[in-house]
Amino acid sequence: MHAKATITVQPDGSLNVPDRPVIPFIEGDGIGPDIWRATRLVIDRAVTACFRGRRQIEWLEVLAGEKGFQQTGEWLPQETLDTIRAHVVAIKGPMTTPVGKGIRSVNVAIRQKLDLYACVRPVKYIETVPSPMKHPEKIDMVIFRENTEDLYAGIEWQAGTPEAGRVSAFLESEMGVRLPPGSGIGIKPISAANTKRLVARAIAFAIDNARPSVTFMHKGNIMKFTEGAFNQWGYEVAREKFGDRTLTETELWERYDGRAPAGKVVIKDRIADMLFQQVLLRPEEFAVIATPNLNGDYLSDALAAQVGGLGMAPGANIGDDCAVFEATHGTAPKYAGLDKVNPSSLLLSGAMMLEHMGWREAADQIRQALQATIREGTVTYDLARQIQGAHEVRCSEFAARLVEILETAIAG
Ligand code: NAD
Repeated sequence: MHAKATITVQPDGSLNVPDRPVIPFIEGDGIGPDIWRATRLVIDRAVTACFRGRRQIEWLEVLAGEKGFQQTGEWLPQETLDTIRAHVVAIKGPMTTPVGKGIRSVNVAIRQKLDLYACVRPVKYIETVPSPMKHPEKIDMVIFRENTEDLYAGIEWQAGTPEAGRVSAFLESEMGVRLPPGSGIGIKPISAANTKRLVARAIAFAIDNARPSVTFMHKGNIMKFTEGAFNQWGYEVAREKFGDRTLTETELWERYDGRAPAGKVVIKDRIADMLFQQVLLRPEEFAVIATPNLNGDYLSDALAAQVGGLGMAPGANIGDDCAVFEATHGTAPKYAGLDKVNPSSLLLSGAMMLEHMGWREAADQIRQALQATIREGTVTYDLARQIQGAHEVRCSEFAARLVEILETAIAG
């Protein structure tokens, strides 16, 4: 028997993963316990089957959200943050956002306190899932959204307040800028350091996963010193840190006639509004997209809808010290405890987590079994009502059938 142990980060940023790593989980509120139970079952069985019992996750519950508040009086206990940081990798279900109670959002607080600066959202079509696209199978992208700054930094003043008046007066007297009277004011900070670490992560991902391109999505034609600077710093980091593994779109055409040499990632950029058109019209041209916070928020949800809805989309928040994998939907309180909803978002986030740990075989098996389960028409209510002839099952039954398919595939 191997002793259980902790994942550690090596000096080069890669992970050292023992065979029995302790991984903290936050079950989540509302439908959280239902989808977590299903996800945990599938992950455990996939790991056991793939690695023939040699590897196994030692789950460790940590508290946050409504459950945390009920048991500790805090929405996000410090102990939870410390435990996640100490164990490097964690997974969480959705959490209730407290209304008018101290903490703005538990999810946002986790990202900020652990400096999880990259919000990573893979968007890939799963066969049979209803989609508004004619060719949804052409969509296979990973979005890297900056998670810590931009208009989301929360630096804003309400119209008519003394603070807004002071900022307005400063702008007029010191900077020669006159705002319309009664303006609300928000600040959009975008920094070189935060841009570069996000873009570096996106390019490293493209190289490690043999993805052909990284596209910077920005509105730099209008917001030159924020979004425009994001784009410029993006190219800088590509050149400075990955010069031998990347080339620009201009170089691609001038030197290679449009065909990238093996092992090289093409770096390109698109204006945000144009990219929204292009992911609809020619999605096959985009593989990895790196973008500031607000653009990334819009694009992640739009792309998730293109492949069949938010209920299926996985996600992760990743920093240099640790990463938290999560369901991207909310707590759907009206379905809490009914064993009814679709666990796919958390399940696919679990697969991302296994991949992040280097346990890629188990991640692949989960994705393939999920695909096969949906393809045969075994689905939860949300998909059943959209797929003709589908066999509607409960959340737990969906997980059980998926495990059956997965174990049969591995045994065969
Ligand atoms: P929601 O995502 O919880 O639910 C909206 C609707 O989507 C549900 O009524 C249901 O019809 C459907 N849905 C969601 N998840 C589903 C699943 N797995 N399977 C099938 N159908 C699913 O959004 P909401 O109602 O706006 O928010 C409810 C609570 O969740 C709020 O407190 C909100 O702040 C919180 N929230 C948390 C997160 C998070 O933890 N990451 C994200 C969004 C919202």
